Amino acid sequence: MENEAAVSKNFIENIIDKDLAEGVYDCVHTRFPPEPNGYLHIGHAKSILLNYGLAKEYQGKFNMRFDDTNPTKEKTEFVESILEDIRWLGADWEDRLFFASNYFDQMYEAAVKLIKKGKAFVCDLSAEQIREYRGTLTEPGRESPYRSRSIEENLRLFEEMKDGRYADGEKVLRAKIDMSSPNINMRDPVIYRVAHMSHHNTGDKWCIYPMYDFAHPIEDAIEGITHSICTLEFEDHRPLYDWVVRELEYPHPPKQIEFAKLYLTNVVTGKRYIKKLVEEGIVDGWDDPRLVSIAALRRRGFTKESIQMFVDLCGVSKANSSVDYAMLEYCIREDLKLKRPRLMAVLDPLPLVIDNYPEGQIEQLTAPNNMENESLGERSIPFGRELYIEREDFMVDPPKKYKRLFVGTEVRLMNAYMVTCTGYDTDEDGKVIRVHCTYDPETRGGNAPDGRKVKGTIHWVEASHAGKVEVRLYENIVDEEKGVYNKEDGSLNLNPHSLTITEAYVEPALMEAKGYDSFQFVRNGFFCADIKDSKEGAPVFNRIVTLKSSFKL
Ligand code: ATP
Ligand code: MG
Repeated sequence: MENEAAVSKNFIENIIDKDLAEGVYDCVHTRFPPEPNGYLHIGHAKSILLNYGLAKEYQGKFNMRFDDTNPTKEKTEFVESILEDIRWLGADWEDRLFFASNYFDQMYEAAVKLIKKGKAFVCDLSAEQIREYRGTLTEPGRESPYRSRSIEENLRLFEEMKDGRYADGEKVLRAKIDMSSPNINMRDPVIYRVAHMSHHNTGDKWCIYPMYDFAHPIEDAIEGITHSICTLEFEDHRPLYDWVVRELEYPHPPKQIEFAKLYLTNVVTGKRYIKKLVEEGIVDGWDDPRLVSIAALRRRGFTKESIQMFVDLCGVSKANSSVDYAMLEYCIREDLKLKRPRLMAVLDPLPLVIDNYPEGQIEQLTAPNNMENESLGERSIPFGRELYIEREDFMVDPPKKYKRLFVGTEVRLMNAYMVTCTGYDTDEDGKVIRVHCTYDPETRGGNAPDGRKVKGTIHWVEASHAGKVEVRLYENIVDEEKGVYNKEDGSLNLNPHSLTITEAYVEPALMEAKGYDSFQFVRNGFFCADIKDSKEGAPVFNRIVTLKSSFKL
């Protein structure tokens, strides 16, 4: 595995190797720069683990930085949730937690420096005029009539902008680059605007705010970032990024590298859509287990290890593509299958009576917690005359290949005894309400001394000791057949069966589960105790994933 990793480096590692070899940088310093305007999702996890992973791989540093330069959309409440998610993923920023807004003074100074160099000017064109003057992909732009203002005038006007002398939109500061550049981002982009708004961090100190393309390279340069990794949509902005760090003459200019965003097939990640689902009460908040925000995945029972595995499997690429959700499910199964105990829970209960078992007797049986991992130890399970089994494990008229219970057959009750079905009771509608069996006392533990075999093994729980719990089963929140978005009006094609709530009977050990504890429920999938709704002694279980998959690596 070590060797394999060494030969299959991704393209970013190749760039870093070359930079280190050529002495462009002598260390690696990355960052994760979210805007605190929503919850992080699985795509962000990829960026976090990529940036943090590279820092670790090269014994470098990883910064956490909130890119909070836009006061309209940002909120403090998101800062905490984002930090919690990143901490949970295991990315450690040590003592390097930064806010771009703490650099506003330096950004202002940087803008002044550009003005003094004759590289920036105050422009009075309206937003609409700026757009008109900008030109198109096929036509060059036209220069603003304010472009030739003197340095002194620009310095004075910019200071007046800062001092609140102008209304929003009345004046902007623009970089003076090239209105005929084939790259529209280089056509004298706006770098500062007037916005009379309170900022979550700096309050009313500022009424001018830097634009992203100007602010971001400065943030990187101030922090000594070497490799500024972002997603593909910023590729066309790179010349501007380079222009900013060059004109500001930073001694160790950072380098922007773009990679493709992670998309999941048939999964909603857009903030706009999730917000709508939350506001309309279709989901239970941003951490509803059907969503793929990091908080939702954690609540559903995904582990950080499974997310790391998923991100590693996806790899890092320059081409946009979409990954199947089944791959994420594969990762959580792989992660949990040996780590977590396998216990018995009956999701669709049907009573079973063992008529020859002494009435009122309960015995304790011993069962391994995970047959494939002895280190998880054993537990004792109560067994008695009345049990619950899954309704689908009994049939009146079974098809030929049916290996479970029907009248006249013998099956194994997992970890217990062999039982033979002798009959069943029905209600007045003919629905089966109880199954009758006899057991063979010689088969304690599940095997017959005479070596006779049975075709099926079914799970069960003893009725008088079983806990009754709420279980939530999930399907994709959108209708996969129809696709995520409605072609006519852009709305979401919702799957009405995305959430099923049922009551299940579980073995006593499961009643002690606390939030985030996860288990395999034999044959039914992996489940996790819900962190929000579980109470002491009354857990609520979310199904993380079923056991079977069509996904093969
Ligand atoms: P979204 O629009 O999905 O909320 P965003 O790009 O607006 O995402 P930011 O807070 O600006 O969110 O992103 C922080 C970092 O995460 C950026 O470096 C961005 O490139 C990266 N990122 C965002 N979405 C993805 C994704 N789907 N895959 C990989 N990285 C992503
Ligand atoms: Mg954004």
